[in-house]
This record gives sequence, C-alpha cells and structure tokens, in this order.
Amino acid sequence: MSLNLAEELVDNPDSIVTQHDYILYSKTTHSYSPACLKLLDLLDYYVPKIERAYVEEGKPALFCNTYNWEPLFVYALGYTPIGYTEMGRYSDREDMQVSEDHYQFPVETCSMVKCVVGQLHKRIGAFTIKRILTNSTGCEPFNLAWEIMRKQGYEVFAYETTYRGPTVTGERLEKLVKFMIEQLLDIAEWVTGERKVDEEALREEFRRKNRLMKKLKKLLELRVTHPFYVKSLATIMFLNVGLSNYFGRPKEYEEGIDLLIEELENEPVNPDDLKRVIPIIWGGGTGQEFGVYEAIDQAGGSLLGFRDAPFRLVNEDLPPLEAMARYVYGNARAGAGVYTREVLESEYNRLGARGMILYGYIGCSYSSVDREMFRRYFHEKGLPCLNLEGSFQVGAPHGQLLTRVKAFVEMLTSTH
Ligand code: SF4
Repeated sequence: MSLNLAEELVDNPDSIVTQHDYILYSKTTHSYSPACLKLLDLLDYYVPKIERAYVEEGKPALFCNTYNWEPLFVYALGYTPIGYTEMGRYSDREDMQVSEDHYQFPVETCSMVKCVVGQLHKRIGAFTIKRILTNSTGCEPFNLAWEIMRKQGYEVFAYETTYRGPTVTGERLEKLVKFMIEQLLDIAEWVTGERKVDEEALREEFRRKNRLMKKLKKLLELRVTHPFYVKSLATIMFLNVGLSNYFGRPKEYEEGIDLLIEELENEPVNPDDLKRVIPIIWGGGTGQEFGVYEAIDQAGGSLLGFRDAPFRLVNEDLPPLEAMARYVYGNARAGAGVYTREVLESEYNRLGARGMILYGYIGCSYSSVDREMFRRYFHEKGLPCLNLEGSFQVGAPHGQLLTRVKAFVEMLTSTH
C-alpha cells in the first residue's frame, strides 16, 4: 500500500472511490490491531490469490455461492471456493457496460449479476478457473447469466432448489433431506468425477465450521462491550465473507480470528463508548457499497447484530451427508423469509437494538418483498428500520444513499 494514498484517504474519506480504496482505508484506521490487518489482507487478496494458485500451482478451485454450507462442502471435496458474489468488488463501470451492451442485460437488472458477468467475461480465453457451481434457488437474472456463461465456455453445474417452507417438518422434511443427500452426491460427482464424498474430510470441515461459528459468536459478544474496536465494514466482511469461505485460506483466517478475540479480551472497556453507542442491526446481506458502512461509523453508529449471525451448528453426531443436508435446511437461507426474521428478532432482543438497516439491491424483487415485510413487522414492535436499496459499487458511493444512512443514525442518536 502506498503510504501517501492511505494517508490521503484517511485525511479525506470522501475521496474514496473504489472498494479497494475502502479496504486500504480500513487498514489504516485499524492500524492498532494486528488481527484486523491480517484479516483485511486476507480479504483484499482473496480472489487474486486463489486464481494465482490455480494458474501457478494447479491448485483446484471453483466459483460457487457464498452460502454458508456450499464453500464448506467444496473444501471437503478438495477444492478452494471463490464466492462469485465477491467478484463484484473487483468490478468497474466497464464490467457493467459489457453486461448491458454486449450481453444485452436490461439496465434495470440487479447490479450484482451484471458485475459478476462482466468479471467472468474478462476471463474468457484466459487460462483460469472455468468451473461454476450454482443452484436454481437464486433468481432469474443469475440463471440467465449462467446460461450465457455456459455458452461462453464456462463449465456450469446447477443443483436444484434448497427451499424449505415454514410448515415443512416431519415426513416432508425427511423427504427433503433424502433429496438433498442425492444432490450433494450429484455435486461431488460433477466436481471430482466420483459419486462419493470423503466422509472424514467432510467431518473435518464440520469441526472447523462449528469451531469458527463459536469463535465468531464470542467475537460478536465481545463487540458489545467494545463497539468501536472493529469498524462496520471490517466486521461484516470478517463475519459474512470470512466465516463463509475463510477468504480461501482457512488456517490463516482462524489464526486472525483467534488473535482478534485475544486483542478484544485484553482491551479495557471504555465506559464512554458504552454510553454513546447506538446498537444497530444490519438486516441485509454483504452489501458491496462499502461507503454505507463508513457512513454508519461516521455518524456514531455501530453494527452489532447481523442477519447472518452464526446461530446453528452442524450436528457432528449424524452420518456426514445427512448432517450436511440437515444443516442446509436448518439454515436461515434455506427458504422462507420468516427464518431470517427470527434471526433478526433474536439479534434485536440480544442487543436491545435501537435501529435496523435493511439493505438490498435495486432490481431485486425477491429481497424487496422480504424487506418490506420485515420493516412492517419491526416497526410494529417500535424498532426504527431504514429500508435501503443500493447497488454493487462501481465508482464512488451514491451520495443520496449515504445521506439517508447518516440522517437515520443521527435520528437514533438524538432519541437516545
Ligand atoms: S440481489 Fe436479488 S436479483 Fe440480485 S442476484 Fe441476488 S437474488 Fe438475484
């Protein structure tokens, strides 16, 4: 990192343009924490490192979802997962333009899809990772993107839906579990050529995931008494992206988390911080408009609760494939919005939160319906909610969005 650039960004955060700038800026504002610096480095070089290892050492890797269970399963199959939604933060306006002009995606198509398509387009003809594991649970824009990429020479495998409705229990759930086990074997066959899974490798991944979920839970608890030590962007990246795919380097990620817990345990509690903190819940996924997090920090807020809080462990006592299938259906992302709402509500109760930010992407009809339902539900409970629609950031963050975030947090501060 150039010292001048980093200093310039700290002196004038408004000059930040790209997501990479934000990561550099975060490194500077966390210079007191070796753990944060280590984890931010892992985040920064996540995709390029995996691609380089693939090209230079032949280390197997593939693109997949960032869902909690999918990267875990890919690791157990001996591959390194790249969460394709992470490609967005390497994107620029040219990528968006390629999607719109070359592939004829309508302008109003979700920016996440357009950024990913633009990034994959850049790799056509290059010697690099060409396998994409996906599912049909996602959305039509992504399904369309995968069909296009298949025609462009990518090898795409889409397994069926993992949806579980809120009333699905008993016999119906058992049928789903059997169905999921077959799908897991389908994935294994596509990835490795063999319709079987190394059960010990899968168990090892369960142990790692459970261990890390407990550590992340501990970290979130420590953040309640140290609300400003790890800032919003870093927290959400360490939690959502890191806990899901370990930034491609599981051992280093776990070392970083251990170190961060140690730092927080040794850091004295500042009573002034506890007086002024406004606990806020982040009710979105991993928003790729990093300026939103900075706006929360600048206004004095602290994201302490998350929709993707680690809340359910894998059952290590079951046969591994069954445990994997039950974990998939026990996850909030396995379907109905009511599961997500339960997570948000439990975070809200855990923290005595003052407000919630519901974040989704413009053009996403799926999340906008859920967000509106959540907003109404929590409003009725007296919890102020801000329903934000953003996009994958290409270029400087949207000024109007930042103004809304700041005004919301300042409103919570004034009613404190
Ligand atoms: S935000 Fe919505 S439209 Fe965009 S990729 Fe996700 S599900 Fe699809």
